[in-house]
Amino acid sequence: MYVTFLGTGAALPSLDRANTSLLIENEHKNKTILIDCGGDPYRNILRAGKTAESIDAVFITHAHIDHIGGLPSLIESLRLGGRTDALPIYAIAPVTEIIHKLLDVYSFEIIRETWSYPIDIHTIQPGEPFQMAGFATTAHLTLHSVPCAGIRLNSPEEPAAILGYTSDTKYTNSLKDIAANASCFITEATYIQGNEEMADKVGHFTAQQAAKTAQDNHVKSLGLVHLSAPHADEALARAVAAKEYSGKIIIPRDGSTIHFTESLDATVENGLAHPVALQK
Ligand SMILES: [Zn+2]
Ligand SMILES: [Zn+2]
Repeated sequence: MYVTFLGTGAALPSLDRANTSLLIENEHKNKTILIDCGGDPYRNILRAGKTAESIDAVFITHAHIDHIGGLPSLIESLRLGGRTDALPIYAIAPVTEIIHKLLDVYSFEIIRETWSYPIDIHTIQPGEPFQMAGFATTAHLTLHSVPCAGIRLNSPEEPAAILGYTSDTKYTNSLKDIAANASCFITEATYIQGNEEMADKVGHFTAQQAAKTAQDNHVKSLGLVHLSAPHADEALARAVAAKEYSGKIIIPRDGSTIHFTESLDATVENGLAHPVALQK
């Protein structure tokens, strides 16, 4: 399984980190799932060296703007790009409600009856397995300031290769449903350490809490995302996490790809295929 990070930042994007969003591909790289849709998703996919047309399914974890705000833009860009295949979008009920509202707002432009491809919105139940682009998937509620679901997916080729991704959350017992014995556990570290009270209040993790969850759930590798700009000190986040978690810690950058199989520990390639050229 491959996970490419289209963004690794929190709600406020920075030059280095777009809103957190993941592209998941199977081992044969012929099935692709997009997780969340903040900011400028189509361009982020291109910048990561991938093609947006290859997306087989979209999963939206929750309706915060940094996770859903770019969805109408993605839908329009895919039409302009010539898509004709149906686009399945999966989310829990409170989120599909917002997706329908967003599409209603743009119904003068996104005219679904004559759109170049069907937009299929699927409401999924937490805890109930479903198939998403060939991946056996289960969504589980996390504990955030709005209804939010993380996911646990099995590789189509090697079901024992498991990815768990929480999206935004503070500590809750149900995270074990996402994390337990995962080959790769990706979670958020909006804060690093010492902001536990604030993190709890706004429904986020510190790197320390994320790493403790990884350790308690015996995950094989840990990826930390949703780093907020003033706290995005990778070295400090790694050092703090390493005190709690003894496995491999990955702090991906935008464009990084993690690869893992049942037998192969997670490896990471860093960097955008098409970085922004800053003018001096
Ligand atoms: Zn967020
Ligand atoms: Zn959020």
